[in-house]
Formats: sequence, structure tokens, C-alpha cells
Amino acid sequence: MASNPETEAALRAALAQRVGDDRFGLWFGEGVSLGVAGDTLRVGVPNGFFREWIQGHYAADLCSAAQTVTGRPLEVAFHIEAEVAPLGGEVVPLPGPADPRKAPPTPVTEPAPKPAAQPRGPRDLPKSSGATPNSAASAGRPLRRLEDFVTGPSNRLAHAAALDLVRSPGAGFNPLVIHGGVGLGKTHLLEGITAGLRGQHPGTPVAHITAEAFTNAFLESMRANGLNGFRSRFRKAGVLVVDDIHFLAAKRATQDEFLHTFNAVVAQGATVVLACDQHPRRVAKLSDELVTRFLAGMVVRVEAPDPATRRAILRAKAQARGIDVPEAVLAYVADHLRSSVRELEGALNSLLAHALLTGKRMDLDLARSALRDTIRHTAVVVGLKDVERVVCELFGVEPEALKADGRGRAVAHPRMLAMYLARKRTGAAYGEIGRFFGGRNHSTVIAAEKKVRTWLEEEKRSNLLSGFESVADVLGALEQALGA
Ligand code: ADP
Ligand code: MG
Repeated sequence: MASNPETEAALRAALAQRVGDDRFGLWFGEGVSLGVAGDTLRVGVPNGFFREWIQGHYAADLCSAAQTVTGRPLEVAFHIEAEVAPLGGEVVPLPGPADPRKAPPTPVTEPAPKPAAQPRGPRDLPKSSGATPNSAASAGRPLRRLEDFVTGPSNRLAHAAALDLVRSPGAGFNPLVIHGGVGLGKTHLLEGITAGLRGQHPGTPVAHITAEAFTNAFLESMRANGLNGFRSRFRKAGVLVVDDIHFLAAKRATQDEFLHTFNAVVAQGATVVLACDQHPRRVAKLSDELVTRFLAGMVVRVEAPDPATRRAILRAKAQARGIDVPEAVLAYVADHLRSSVRELEGALNSLLAHALLTGKRMDLDLARSALRDTIRHTAVVVGLKDVERVVCELFGVEPEALKADGRGRAVAHPRMLAMYLARKRTGAAYGEIGRFFGGRNHSTVIAAEKKVRTWLEEEKRSNLLSGFESVADVLGALEQALGA
């Protein structure tokens, strides 16, 4: 695969020499990966904006750097790093006897439909450095910290649980499961837990790994007949942190192994922390045993942040870089990019890059022009009217009926779904949503949201609408109509 760390390091050095450190840092820093696969130089970028920019400005430098490093001409191919692709990562060596087999695992596949994703492999850290590589360290950056996590109603509970776990690991719930959509801070929280534990409880061995790396290491050690070494590595952990656990879906053998690992570490008093892209019960093809174990602890959800939190996150990120961004600009970005924090970060990066390159003042005009493409391509701005429209269309009810006093299921359920969706997609406050849907108060909206969430968590089979099996399916159709 493309992610040979030495090659990538050499490519980076050659490129930095050509474009200069400043520009290199701006365009080829975090979020951009370089690798060689056959006769292709593969450039992983966070979004279309980066691709266009790099292609337009640095294609020649890329080619020449690649030729210097590999000694042959390569073609340049871009790919947008799929945010859902779990980070590659490496098994964390725990303190104790070193693993005798140092060879990097060749990915071995369990029969599972995994498209050839681009594992973002270890970047700068040599694998046998004795450091404790994990997905962050192997991506060449320090672990994210809980202190840098901006909280709001969407994530406060998850953050509090993380802090609690760091304060007294082993004293409370077990496991801690953090679930929620892509780019909402799950990995940040997991890394924060690991960093916090290492700082505050240096005697507690923490194993931090992605489920993908766990899978690869497991399969590889099976092939190499070394299951004992593999097992002891994890089973010595005082805290076991596993990111993107949904990756285990449909991988029976690895699930069985993980169940043993889970049981073994819990039996010896260790704490387990997991992140998942949805509620464990909703992960298809995850064994009942695992789901039962996961749900026995604390299950918290992170949601898309509300407008105030989005602004606070942007403010914090700008501040961390020592850049003064006017409130109006922060508000503009926060109002237009609503679905994930990762997207917000990307927008801020584009904005800073534009300001730097054009030398223009950071104002609304600059924000509009810098984000025009990002906003058009990635964020569908959804308003309350849009939600009303798709719900009314799907259920065949009139907007007036949705807003009227009717309490019959034929309108009450669609209304509840509308409120839930409005909350999820528009960033409107509870009060605003209540007023829009027939002058109801905010507690009605909160109740509706809660109800729909319960349906989802219970995987309620749906009699909402013929032709749809579950509430999730109905919501899926609505989201699609909104342009999810
Ligand atoms: P996930 O694992 O849920 O897909 P990440 O943890 O990778 O998401 O978050 C994506 C990016 O957004 C990261 O750079 C992370 O630091 C940042 N981020 C997410 N939530 C917050 C937050 N509440 N405060 C600060 N940064 C955040
Ligand atoms: Mg993640």
C-alpha cells in the first residue's frame, strides 16, 4: 500500500525544499498524505478545495519531488481522504517485554467487504522507536487534549464522562462508549482520555488502538502463529481504548477475539473506552455478546454542535493559532457549515490560507469568496421550511395540518420527526422550532426529539409509513430528500 513512512518522509522533505517551509506547512501539513503506489504518487487531501489548489499550484513540484525520491517519473493522483475510513494506526506496545516480531503487519483480510481504503499509515514515527505510536502519533502530531475540547449541549455529557474517567479510571462505568456521526469529536475525546491518563496516571498502561489496527494485528498474528504475543499485549492494559469499533462489523473472527480481549481486561479490573459511529445496537453484524457488553457501561452520544458551540469551536481554533478572526466571520462560517466539526476546521483552514495568500483583510468578503466552493459542495443549508416540505411530501400531509393542533398519529408522528430533523439539520433553537411548527413551546420540541431518539435506539419497527421498515429508514429518506 501507499503508506510507507520512509517514502512519505522523503517525499515531504523533497517537497518542502521545493516549495519552502511556509507554503509546505500550509498545504501539505496535517490532513494531507503522500504515498507511492506503483507508478502513481498518491496525494490524500481533506477536500476538493485542497485538491484544486495543490493541483493548480504544486503539480510540478510534486512530480519533481517524487522523481527525486523514487528515481522514476510518477503520475500524480489525488484522493479525498474518506473521513469514515478509520485511521490505520499501530498496536500500542505496552510497557513490558518488547514484542519479538517487529515486522510491520502486512494487512491480511478477513473475508469482509472492505474496499481498498487508503490507510493513513504511520508518518514520521519509526515503528520500533519505543515511543507509543497510535493513530495520532503515527499521523505525526501529538494527541489531542480534553482541555482543548470545546463543550456545548451536543457533547457536554461525553466530555464530562471522559474527564471523569481520567480522574478515576476503574472507579465508575465500564465500558465508556462514545458514539455519534463523523467529525463530531469522538477520536478527539479518546485521544484526550489517553493523553490525560498518561499525564495523571503514568503507572497505568494505556493501550490505544483503532479497531482496524486491532483487526490487522490479530489476523497477522494468527497467520504468523503468534496469538500469545498478540493477546498479552492487550491483556496487560490498565485502560484499553479502541476507536472506530464499528469497523468490526461483519468480522466474526475478530469480533470473537475482541470479546475475549474485552472480557479478559475487564476481569482484571481494566477500563475499556470505545468510539463508534452509531449506537452499538445499530451497528449491523456486531455480535449480540459484544453489543450486550458495550451497553453494560456508559453509552453517550456526541451530536452536531449548535450554532453557539460552532462559533466557540471556531474561536478556540483561531485563537490556538494566534489569529484574530472577527466575530462576524466566525458567525458566517458557523452558520453555513453545520454538519461536523471537521468541516468547520477545514473551512477555517481555507479561510486562513486565503487571507495569507491574498494578503487581504479577514472580513466577510474574504470569508464569502474563500468558502464559496466549500459551502456549495459540502454543506446543504437546510431551513425549517425545507424540513417542513420534505416531511409533508413524504407523509402526504399539508403544512397546515402539521402545524395545527391535531394529536392523531397521522400528523403527530410526522410532526415529531420534523422537529427532530429540524434540530438535527437546521441548527435552529428549540424555541424557534416550536414556534415554527404551530406555536408550540420548546419543551414540546425537546420531548419530540427524545421520543424519536428512543425509537431509533430501540430500533423500533415502523408503522409510521408503509414501505418503510424502521424509523431509521423513514429518517434516512427524509435526510436524503434534504440533501444529506
Ligand atoms: P470523529 O472521531 O468523531 O469523526 P474527530 O474527533 O476526528 O471526529 O474530530 C474531527 C476534528 O474536529 C478534530 O480535529 C477534532 O479535534 C475537532 N473537534 C471535534 N469536536 C471538537 C470540539 N468540541 N472542540 C474542539 N475540537 C473539536
Ligand atoms: Mg474518529
